[in-house]
Amino acid sequence: MGIIVQKFGGTSVADPQKIHNVANAVIKEKENGNDVVVVVSAMGHTTDYLIKLAKEVTLNPDSREMDMLLSTGEQVSIALLAMAIQAHGYKAISMNGQQVGIITECIHSKARIVDIKTDKLKKNLEAGNIIVVAGFQGVTPDGEITTLGRGGSDTSAVAIAAALKADRCDIYTDVEGVYATDPRIVPNIQKADVISYEEMLELARVGANVLHPRSVETAKQFNVPLRVRSSFKLNNLGTLIIGVENMEIYKPVAGVAADSSQVRILLSNLPDIPGTAARVFGALAKNNISVDMIIQSLASNGTNSIAFTVDEDDLNGAIDILETVKDEVKAGEILIDKDISKVSIVGAGMVDRPGIAADMFRSLAENNINIKMISTSEIKISCLVEKENAKPAIKALCKEFGLETTEMAVVKGDLPNL
Ligand code: ADP
Ligand code: ASP
Ligand code: MG
Repeated sequence: MGIIVQKFGGTSVADPQKIHNVANAVIKEKENGNDVVVVVSAMGHTTDYLIKLAKEVTLNPDSREMDMLLSTGEQVSIALLAMAIQAHGYKAISMNGQQVGIITECIHSKARIVDIKTDKLKKNLEAGNIIVVAGFQGVTPDGEITTLGRGGSDTSAVAIAAALKADRCDIYTDVEGVYATDPRIVPNIQKADVISYEEMLELARVGANVLHPRSVETAKQFNVPLRVRSSFKLNNLGTLIIGVENMEIYKPVAGVAADSSQVRILLSNLPDIPGTAARVFGALAKNNISVDMIIQSLASNGTNSIAFTVDEDDLNGAIDILETVKDEVKAGEILIDKDISKVSIVGAGMVDRPGIAADMFRSLAENNINIKMISTSEIKISCLVEKENAKPAIKALCKEFGLETTEMAVVKGDLPNL
């Protein structure tokens, strides 16, 4: 008998009938003789609704109060799922982040988990309970409620699996596994039976929101066997995510993804002297603002311009900080470009295979897609394009790198907003 952690996302618990379906899936795992901890997200689009509600009250809601608000979504679904499991005749108990002891840093809206207490979880499992835990939330050592960032229930589940040394963590969702791109954009897309932690981590970081990036980071760090599988086809094994040393790499590109949630900031006319970039990015880092792509270019008049991207949620904070350092670094203007999407190709097979970047740029050019910025890492190439070009770029790149198939993926739920 082992411990299995299961996670069900918002679409899987969107209404009472679906909650009963989840209860059945949980009970099936219990009947296999396992101890089961199940992590759930808020029902359907609850989190989006709560964010909209807050923005109707004020355009600039306080981040502590946002966490107080958003954490309520998961509290509803855990109680309902525990009731459903009990109604099927099994022992179940719901626990929120505070009750479990999911301890996080005190950074509201994107807290990282630092520790998970296992004593209450173990006690409840020993008592024969199926435990239903609220995803996405934690508590600081001072008792402040935090959330882990959008999609963070995946990370809650993997972190609990790591803390309990669970045999497996199964992420059940509304698609049948990890595909080479979002199957809502390219339905005739290949599904991976197996993918490495490294490739999955890059894909998640560049916008494949099927898994929260930190969930993959945690799985990799603690070697948690992770599966992404369908909540409506329970017998399908989905996609297994494992260490790279176990894998042969045949294809240069494993996946394509886009992220339309960034904005580009340009600082013009900076003097070409040491310390300027350190001052600008140091100030942003101090305020917990992560910067993604960065390009510095030297103009013919000897001044520099620095362009970089941040999450759109961090835009106002970034502007405030840049206004305070602008005079000190003698910058000219601060220009904002919101019409951007970052399209990326990811693949461990790119290493030592020259020409992949050139193929990507050619494919975009053949589709009349202009590239605004480029960045590369060992197993990833990203191009910034106009928002309206994100979907055509994904389609073109899937074709270019042979990621299509003849079978159509089955997807439940709504279309993504790219
Ligand atoms: P959940 O509510 O279960 O957490 P999410 O919406 O967060 O579900 O994640 C599942 C969605 O991720 C799918 O419906 C799909 O549209 C999207 N997605 C994006 N990229 C991929 C990919 N490469 N493979 C599979 N699904 C993907
Ligand atoms: N409910 C949260 C969200 O919508 C967390 C999650 O679903 O993983 O982002
Ligand atoms: Mg999700």
